[in-house]
Amino acid sequence: MRALSLALLLACGAALAQPKVTVVDRETFEGDELGAPEGYTHRMQLAIVMLENARWTRQRAMLALLQAQPILGQCGVALDRVEFHVVEVPASYLDFSTPAARELARAYPVARPTVYLVRDTRSRPAFDAEAIGRGNSGTRPEIADTVWMTAAVRDPGVAFAHELAHVLMDSGEHSGEAGNLMRDETSARNKSLSAAQCARLRDTGRANGLLK
Ligand SMILES: [Zn+2]
Repeated sequence: MRALSLALLLACGAALAQPKVTVVDRETFEGDELGAPEGYTHRMQLAIVMLENARWTRQRAMLALLQAQPILGQCGVALDRVEFHVVEVPASYLDFSTPAARELARAYPVARPTVYLVRDTRSRPAFDAEAIGRGNSGTRPEIADTVWMTAAVRDPGVAFAHELAHVLMDSGEHSGEAGNLMRDETSARNKSLSAAQCARLRDTGRANGLLK
């Protein structure tokens, strides 16, 4: 019985390949460089992992981050510390798929929540961005509390805030309210969050250890 369990364990371990991840650049930004909102009540530390050759630029990534801050600031959430990683991975890891994402997350552990900037997605239906909270990560625990944004995403700053809000709220729910960040289509016009959404984002985010 024991031998069998061990064999199963080994079989499970072998299912995940270990991609070679090479760090190209790593930088840390602190709250005051990120435009923390006045009177914030909650702080978030975040990691961004940008894949080399995924058609993202550092500039576009930083702009998305700086645009997301005031959107999340509506809920009193300040980005406190952001670790920015640029990594080179084998070409088969440039596009999102659950197996590739799990392997990458395991091979290169970083702080959570994490926003991965990838080239494209192999998921069908294909979403420009995906959020994986606790509720939809049962069979893929390595990628709980992560966001995956493809280079095709429109309004990256709004998408960044939208997907992070899914993770913080641990909810895939969308809103039908005009101008709401959580409408299912990402648009520069949709940036507001209701008091109830903010309360859920703060409470769930804190309970899950993603906010302090
Ligand atoms: Zn959404």
